[in-house]
Parts: sequence; structure tokens; C-alpha cells
Amino acid sequence: MKDLLTRFAAYYRPHRGLFVLDFSSAVAAGLLELAFPVAVTVFIDRLLPTNQLGLIVLASLGLLLIYILNAGLQVIVTYWGHMLGLRIETEMRRKAFDHLQKLSFGFFDNMKTGHLVARLTKDLEEIGEVAHHGPEDLFIALMTLIGALLLMLWVHVPLALITAMLVPVTAILTTVYGQRMTETWHALYGRVAEFNARIEENVGGIRVVQAFANEDHERALFAQNNRSYLATKLEAYKVMAASMSLSYLSMRFVQVVVMLAGAWFVMRGELTAGGFVGFLLLLNVFFSPLEKINSIIETYPKGLAGFQRYCHFLDTRPDIGDHDTAQTVARLEGAIDYRNVSFGYQAERPVLTGLNLSIKAGETVAFVGSSGAGKTTICSLLPRFYEVTEGAILIDGIDIRDMTLKSLRSNIGIVAQDVFLFAGTIRNNIAYGRLDATEAEIFEAARRARLDSLIASLPAGLDTVIGERGVKLSGGQKQRLAVARIFLKNPPILILDEATSALDTETERAIQQSLAELAEGRTTLIVAHRLATVAHADRILVVEDGHIIEQGTHSELIAGAGGRYRQLHAGQSPVK
Ligand code: ADP
Ligand code: MG
Repeated sequence: MKDLLTRFAAYYRPHRGLFVLDFSSAVAAGLLELAFPVAVTVFIDRLLPTNQLGLIVLASLGLLLIYILNAGLQVIVTYWGHMLGLRIETEMRRKAFDHLQKLSFGFFDNMKTGHLVARLTKDLEEIGEVAHHGPEDLFIALMTLIGALLLMLWVHVPLALITAMLVPVTAILTTVYGQRMTETWHALYGRVAEFNARIEENVGGIRVVQAFANEDHERALFAQNNRSYLATKLEAYKVMAASMSLSYLSMRFVQVVVMLAGAWFVMRGELTAGGFVGFLLLLNVFFSPLEKINSIIETYPKGLAGFQRYCHFLDTRPDIGDHDTAQTVARLEGAIDYRNVSFGYQAERPVLTGLNLSIKAGETVAFVGSSGAGKTTICSLLPRFYEVTEGAILIDGIDIRDMTLKSLRSNIGIVAQDVFLFAGTIRNNIAYGRLDATEAEIFEAARRARLDSLIASLPAGLDTVIGERGVKLSGGQKQRLAVARIFLKNPPILILDEATSALDTETERAIQQSLAELAEGRTTLIVAHRLATVAHADRILVVEDGHIIEQGTHSELIAGAGGRYRQLHAGQSPVK
């Protein structure tokens, strides 16, 4: 807890000036609130009896001046104070997003998108609120309580003591209900999260929903979420209503008792009329921090819980990164060596054990084998999407762990089965291959990927918007875009992981040409389902259960009687 607060305080350091301005203004504003009851007392008891109009006008003007000053302070607290909170919030968000970029595939495999989004938006918003109101609210509440109590004692000691005895009832009532409010808000937060997740998933999968005509099912699920949201929020309002009216009643009860007692003291000549009125006004000032405690009890735990999640997130160390002496490699030749490589996504379930594989620079090797055999896994280790648990992978004789991630990955291009395209234009998506590419280079890449006729046929050309994840393109067009991206990137090593498996044979054949051209002069790893597409590879590797069980050229493997490749080939040939 102390640790957490120290970490939180550290975020104020760069904004010391703003903090001092905000804090002192808030304190001054709090103190000025106490001025009015005192002024009224002085006004009634001292000024009115003098019958001097000039003096009374002067005093009123003085009071007005105090209010103007206070109004100015409110502006500072509201604007600059929130600026302070907002700066801290944006700084935290920047840090969180930075961190997000560094985390490895393994982290995202186990993460829910909705939770991550909530962490970077809602959590941080709540932290920002606390960052602004946090320190000053608590301080001002305490200061006002003590200040008001001291002034009450100054006005009339017995009356102040009576008040001090009654007030704890109000305070306890307020706190107890505040706590219950916090619990209901917590529950509500959970409901809202469920709700968001449901909507997010529904929108993401709406095509599946409609294809299965399962709208009624989705409606029913949503209605359930909606109902529990309604019930929880109604419960929250019930608690709120009870809490508000009870604390109101208890405060007014204290006020009536004070009024009665005060009147009694006035009648006995122990209290002046001005003191009586001033005291009642002080009582109101005294109550205001009590009301504030409610909101403090609500926002503090929310903000702190959010900050805790934020810290936890920042503390997840990226498990794959650059070590201190990692070198930036220039363009590699592309000779690849897997040496005794073992790997598993979970420690208890190895996928690869002691894999050895050498690929010459410029060679094209194909991986075939049944689904789940480990082909994609072998490829994913090369750009270090996952880290080998044993052994090493070398490119041009250098361990890939001794290269910076950035320079290693700039040497590798990947076209996979499901292409991710960004919601933007064709131009943006091609240029993602090399952000500083010129218009001419983008066109050239598009031409080599055989996208030029499509672009020419579109009224907006390269600036055509392709929709979220490229929904406005056909499967073949998406793959071509992915290919253009790699042409632009121009890496010496290429991975084609079932790049055309999702396409029909005719489209596949058309794209094969572009892929063959893309593979020219590069070390290429091809994973393919349809054997016809890899028959031309320099070497074909048959993978089973994470092991390479056969290798050779197409004709060698076909000749090998009874081999797995022959079996696979026989299984596919008649269909073709
Ligand atoms: P292939 O590409 O040959 O079809 P993969 O390399 O994708 O096979 O998968 C090999 C094994 O690793 C499978 O058993 C699969 O379930 C598992 N696997 C693949 N990706 C992951 C992942 N991200 N997390 C956990 N297990 C995975
Ligand atoms: Mg695969």
C-alpha cells in the first residue's frame, strides 16, 4: 500500500508547480468558506448597532471582494487542477501503450482484448480523477472540519460541545452508507464490463451471428445482461436514496437541536443574535465535508484499484526483448540454422524437441505435415515471436537473441493465412511494409503483387478505404495486399505460412506467380497444405509431432517407397 502511494506520488513530480498552485488555491478557497459565518456574526453584533451606513456598505464591499477572490480560486482549482489530473492520466496512458507494444505474443495469447482496452481507458480516467481530487479533497475536508469546529468554539463553547456530541451520529451514518454505495458501484462496474464484452463480441462476430441466423439467441443473452445491469443499478439507486435522505435528516436533526439550544442560550443572554446566526451558518460549513466524505469513499478505492491494475500491467516484464549487448544487424544473407531447438507454449507440453535444421541462404524449403504438427511454431520462432526454451537459432552464424528485435524482424517478411489489414486505405496498408516509401515505390509493389488492375478499376485508386480488417476486399485481394507489403519491405528472409490455403485453386494459382516472384533471391520457408504448391521447392520437409521425419525434393520423396510424403501425396492426388 505504501509502495503504491509512493509510486502514485512520483507522477506528481514533473507537475510540482501545478500541484502547488492547485493545492494552495483549494486550501484558500476552503478557508474563505469559513469567512462568511464570521462576517455575518460581526455584521449583526458589531456593525448594525453602530447605525453607520458607510461602515456597513464598506463591510459589504469587503465581503463581495472575498467572494470575487473565491470565484477566481474556483477557476484555478477546476481548470488547472483538472489539467494536473489530466496530464498525469495522459502520461500514464502513454506509458501503458508503450509497454503494450513491447509485450510478446505469449502475453496476448492469454489476454482478453476488452480488459486491456478498459485498462487503458476507464481505469486511467478514474486514476486521473483521484490524481486531481485525491490529495486536496481529503486535506480540505479535514481542514474545514477543524476550522469550523474552532470557530464554533470561539462563538460559544457549550453550543459547540453539544454539536460535537451529536455530529458523530451523522458521520457514522454517512460512512456506513458510503461503504454500501462503494460495494454496489463495484458490482455495477462488473455488470458494465460484461455488457461491453458482450457488445464487443457481438459486433466482432456479427457476420457469424447472422450467418447462423442466431440473432434471437444473441438477443436473449444480451437481454439477460441488460436485466442484471438494470437490477444492479436500481439497487445502487435504492442505497443512494436511503443514504441521501437519512444523512439529510440526521443533519437537519442536529440543526434543529442546535437551534433550540441556541435559542435557549440567547434567551438567557449568554449568546448574541449574531453569534446565533453565525453558528447556524458554521454548522452548514461543518456538514459540507461530511457530505464530501461520501464521494471520497467512492472515488478513492476506484482510483486505487485502477492504479493497482495499472502498476500490475506495467510490471509484467516483456519476456522477449533486447539484451544489453544485442547488436543491430544490417541486411542479412539469410542462412538459417536451428540447433537442437526445443520449445513449448506451456512448459508441460513441448511442441518441438531437439529440432535440427539448416537452410542455405536463398534456399526455398517447404514444410508439410498434418495440422498441429508444429509447422507454424517452427516459423514463429525465427522472428522471436516466441523464445526457444533450449538450443539456439542462428542466422548467418549469429544467434538471433544477440540481434536487436527490430533489426532481426526487419530482415523477415511474413505472409500468413489470415492477413490482418488496418481499417484505412489500400495505400496505408501497403505502406505499412515501409512507412517512408514513396508513391512510386508503393505503386511498384502493388504492380508486382498484381494489384494494379484492381487499383486502376477503383474510382479512388490507392485511396480506396477497405473497411475494418479489409472486409471490403476478397480473400485473394487481401493476400495480394499482404504480398505487396512484403515487396515494399524487401526482406532477405520470407515466411509463407499457408498464404494461399484459404483461397480457391484458381485464385491460388494466380497468386502463386506473385509469391514465386516474391521468393526470388530470398531464403524462403513455405508452409503449405496443398502439396502441388510446394513441388518446386528446393527441399521439402515432412513434419510430424514436432519432428522432421523425411526430407528431400519432391521426386526423391515420391520415390521413397511407403514414405509419409508419398502417403500424403496419394491422399491428395485424386482430388486434384
Ligand atoms: P501447424 O502449423 O503444423 O498446424 P502449430 O505449430 O500451429 O501446428 O501447432 C503446434 C501445436 O502447438 C499444436 O498442438 C497447437 O495446439 C499448439 N499451439 C499452437 N499455437 C499455440 C499457442 N499460441 N498457444 C498454445 N498452444 C499453441
Ligand atoms: Mg499452421
